[in-house]
Amino acid sequence: MIKITKFGGSSVADAAQFRKVRSIIESDSSRRFVVVSAAGKASKADNKITDLLYLCRAHVEYHVDYHGIFDIITKRFIDIKNELGLRINIEKELSELCEELPRLSTDELVSRGEYFTSRMMADFLNFPFVDAADVIKINYDGSIDFDATDENLRFIMKDHDRFVIPGFYGTTPDGSIKVMSRGGSDITGSILARCLKADLYENWTDVSGFLMADPRIVKDPLGIRTITYSELRELSYMGASVLHEDAVFPVKEANIPINILNTNRPEDRGTIILDSIPKDEDDSTTITGVAGKKGFCALAISKKHMPESVGFCRRILSVFEKYGVSVEHLPTGIDSIGMIVQEKYVHNCLYDIIAEIKEKAEPDDIKYIPNLALIATVGRNMSSRIGTSGRLFAALGKNNVNVRIMIQAFNEINILVGVDEDDMENGIRAIYDAFVKN
Ligand code: ASP
Repeated sequence: MIKITKFGGSSVADAAQFRKVRSIIESDSSRRFVVVSAAGKASKADNKITDLLYLCRAHVEYHVDYHGIFDIITKRFIDIKNELGLRINIEKELSELCEELPRLSTDELVSRGEYFTSRMMADFLNFPFVDAADVIKINYDGSIDFDATDENLRFIMKDHDRFVIPGFYGTTPDGSIKVMSRGGSDITGSILARCLKADLYENWTDVSGFLMADPRIVKDPLGIRTITYSELRELSYMGASVLHEDAVFPVKEANIPINILNTNRPEDRGTIILDSIPKDEDDSTTITGVAGKKGFCALAISKKHMPESVGFCRRILSVFEKYGVSVEHLPTGIDSIGMIVQEKYVHNCLYDIIAEIKEKAEPDDIKYIPNLALIATVGRNMSSRIGTSGRLFAALGKNNVNVRIMIQAFNEINILVGVDEDDMENGIRAIYDAFVKN
């Protein structure tokens, strides 16, 4: 059994968290490949090491003395080292880094958060340390070179049957360090899981997996035990983020399950993410989760005999394309069509877009509808189940939520409703109660 075990920044924020990680690793002998993020926040007032490193870089750029910030970083690492009684001599390396800092590339500098945290973790676990720079190969366009990474891993596995590796970075073909996007250690875990053909990718964080709804909106929502990658994608789009979105692709292709687990409550089962869940093992409710997102607006465009006007939609869409605005949903009537976009992408160019649509598509009317929220009700078990939408809309009606838009794609795993922003929380509670409490 091979498990990739990835610990996020909050799981390695201080010495107490390091001890929790060690007891998790020691409690299961298949946890032999450990990916580590840079130390994150130990408390609300604390700072993530990665943020502090970016801040040092900004100081250098603006010719402001960075030593004060670097001292905070050094102290964080030395405190962990001293409290755990580690042998590793990081003081010298940190002071060399401080000296060299102005000459390092941003990527190399910020990668040092993961590098030092992992070195200390390797020492603490008594595992070999393997540098991600020698393993993870990243093409110049940012994509992962799986063949080269695979080969490096095979070479390393000749000598090591366990190791700790930093997340978040790798090297480009010219040998320079390149970091992934923020939260990228999740992706490193996923790459390793795929290359080592792992049975499971454990992603340890500070929550016990995904909840069925945002706890700021629904009181004590239930946890999600199993979710498919497609459902996760639908919910993440609405902002329910625990896992980096790009971490899904490498393991999805290899059908390796991801288990989201809580370092502070290791006994919790967390959430398992899978490609598909066999019907007989599926004990989840009709819906898997409900999430909402504000900040949408729509242009409602009408034209008589729209169904017969060939090219009408294309002409409208080409205007949005010209302004680089993505049209996220397109609900239609007989003689009208709505273009739903995110408000932040049009607030500077809205009137130009309207003017060009008038000129290019000659509609009869265009209305701007601001302050919309979308609520996504997601669930693999909704598909082909008669009565699901009836239940959903009845719940919204009973709770005085006016539905302004309804969208359901053919995969039937998500029913999206558009409501006024002020109605979003109420709508989410109504849907959750209808499916979970009743
Ligand atoms: N340390 C990096 C960040 O803060 C990457 C990670 O934690 O996954 O974004």
